[in-house]
Parts: sequence; structure tokens; C-alpha cells
Amino acid sequence: MAAVIEVSQLRKAYGANVVLENVSVDVQEGEVMVVIGPSGSGKSTLLRCLNGLETAQNGDIRIEGRSLMDKATKLTEIRTEVGMVFQQFNLFPHLTVLDNIMLSPIKVRKQDPARAKAKAIELLGKVGLAEKAGAYPASLSGGQSQRVAIARALAMEPKIMLFDEPTSALDPEMVGEVLAVMKQLAKEGMTMVVVTHEMGFAREVADRVVFMEQGGIVEIGSPSEIFEQPKQERTRVFLSKVL
Ligand code: ADP
Ligand code: MG
Repeated sequence: MAAVIEVSQLRKAYGANVVLENVSVDVQEGEVMVVIGPSGSGKSTLLRCLNGLETAQNGDIRIEGRSLMDKATKLTEIRTEVGMVFQQFNLFPHLTVLDNIMLSPIKVRKQDPARAKAKAIELLGKVGLAEKAGAYPASLSGGQSQRVAIARALAMEPKIMLFDEPTSALDPEMVGEVLAVMKQLAKEGMTMVVVTHEMGFAREVADRVVFMEQGGIVEIGSPSEIFEQPKQERTRVFLSKVL
């Protein structure tokens, strides 16, 4: 196995507010890494650094060996390889579901529209929404919208998928349908970094779990190590509040 994401001694600050300090972690090809931790601990900032939405002050991030800190690395190329799904779905309201999915492949990847359409239809089937191709986002439930957002990210054929609390904005009865799509993706071998409060998902799907607090990684381990035998007191205290 090869590391497709390599983060070393990352430091990110907003002015005097240090948000990430000395963060080092590797993600292997096909690995599912779940990131947990209290609000404000830097989880979203770390994900945004991984696809170049934020630039760090120190340290390094390599995606498939290419450093994001290297001026020669084209961030637009990195972003096509690193898909991201947010808590808010951010679908374009004036476009149909199908057009939402086809837009970036055509505009950014310069794909032939017929090919992009065939791929979009295939992806809609994969997320269980084949019948919604012509629908507009306003007519979709939250769970359906998030599944479209996942299909849209997959349409770029990314090598890595980042998820930032993808189910946090959903009504409870819709969480399962989104997690099921993510589970399937993991099974197919996608490399994934998932920030979530869904501890059941973390236990079942994660290869490794990272616990972050105050901008640093406190502990990394397998789900059973983190959930059943955490080494750090701070991990124990956090888990006692969320489990
Ligand atoms: P988490 O996702 O774990 O809740 P975040 O990465 O969103 O944490 O935030 C970590 C810290 O960084 C917080 O203190 C937050 O206020 C701060 N922060 C995040 N984004 C910005 C920004 N764009 N400008 C200034 N401070 C920010
Ligand atoms: Mg966050």
C-alpha cells in the first residue's frame, strides 16, 4: 500500500489564532480514515487544507507525492483528484439534478457532453436516485440532495473523497441513506477522509480513527483501539460525552 495523502508537521493559523499545530498523518490508498473531535478542534480546516481550499503556513501536504506547498503544483489539478462533500449540499438551484452532476466534468474536465451525461446517469443509479435526473434541487429531501452532491463529486472521477460532516444537517431518518452510499464507496476501495459524529459509522467503516483536539492529533488507532482502549485520557473524556 502507498500513502496517497501525506501530512507532515502542518501548522495553520488565522492571525494569532493557531488552528492546526504539528499535525502529521498519512492516509493509505483505499483507506477510510474517520476524524472525530470537539467543535473547533480544526477538523474542517484540516480537510480544507487537504484539497487546497486553505493554505497552511508551515509543514507539508503531499497528494500522490505532489506537494501542495510547491508553487509548481496546480491546485486545480489537485482539486479534480480530491472530491469534497460538505454539510451543506450547495447544489445549483437553477439546474436539474443531472445538469448539476454534468457541469464540472464538462466545464473543468472538458468531457464530451454525451459521455458526461452517461456517467451522470450511471452515478445517479449508484446513489439510488435514477428517477430524479430531471428534478430540481428544491424538490429533493436533504438525504436525496446529499446523495446528489456525492454523485456530483464522484463525476469528476476523484482518487480521494473528503467528507465534512455530510450527515450533520440531515433529519435523523435520512442519515442512514447517505451513510449507506458512503459505505458502498468505501467497499469499492475509495480512499476517504470522513469528519463525522456518527460513531457507529466510524466503528464499522473506518480503517483508522483520528481524535483531534485544539488543533492537534491526540490519538490515532483502529476503531477498536480508539473506542475500546483509548490510550489518552482526553480521548476517553471526549468519547464519554458522545457515546
Ligand atoms: P471544527 O471543524 O473541528 O469544528 P474548524 O476547523 O472549523 O473546527 O475551526 C477551528 C478553529 O479555526 C476555530 O477556532 C475557528 O473559529 C477557526 N476558524 C476556522 N475557519 C476560520 C476562518 N476562515 N477565519 C478565522 N478563523 C477560522
Ligand atoms: Mg467543522
